Amino acid sequence: MRCNICGGTAFEDMPKRPLARCTTCRSLERTRVAALKIKEQVRPQPGAHVLHFAPEQGLSQLLRDIAGDKYRAVDIDPPRYAHLGIDVELFDLCHDVFTLPRGRYDLIVHNHVLEHIECNYSVVLIRLAQSLSENGAMLFSVPIVGDDFTDAIVDASDEEKAARFGAFRHYRHFGRRFIAETLGMIFDMAPDYDLTRDFPPEVLREANIPEHHWHDFTGTSIFVVRRRDLRV
Ligand SMILES: [Zn+2]
Repeated sequence: MRCNICGGTAFEDMPKRPLARCTTCRSLERTRVAALKIKEQVRPQPGAHVLHFAPEQGLSQLLRDIAGDKYRAVDIDPPRYAHLGIDVELFDLCHDVFTLPRGRYDLIVHNHVLEHIECNYSVVLIRLAQSLSENGAMLFSVPIVGDDFTDAIVDASDEEKAARFGAFRHYRHFGRRFIAETLGMIFDMAPDYDLTRDFPPEVLREANIPEHHWHDFTGTSIFVVRRRDLRV
């Protein structure tokens, strides 16, 4: 096995996820699937305009190598990314998404971000898609745990939120059974997920993508949508 982002061959266990994390660039399964899709499918050109939310270390380097000074990293809590040694701008998706220029970005990436925002995630996705260039692509993933979709915005103290939504404040769970009724109502998307339509098993194994992520919606599923896929 070899990390398809940094070439590293050492992996570390995550809770209930043996050898999930690349020791060198810290990539997770979803980060490596995103990199596969960026390199093999989206293929952004040098100097492409890239907007990266919650920038993962290895993926950030890969995107900077492609985009150069057209790479823009943003997050609601920039100090969390001080170790990257790059400029990460403060960006609150619930408010700042409306400031994005329409038709600008050739690639937008956000992995496991939508579950944290305390506002209407559908509007955020639509407005992000509107800021894609004509052939630009948005890559994203969300936690997909169990069958049911749940969504909550509550008036509560931070301690109460932690007690109710966990240390990582997941306000939203995308249910496996309701992808068509949630994300699929915003974008034209395949009704199922099958990574082996895009990549041969040996490529997925080499990139350390476990087989249980190949054929079903999981938190490792990477969705790729374009502006023309908007149904609204
Ligand atoms: Zn790596």
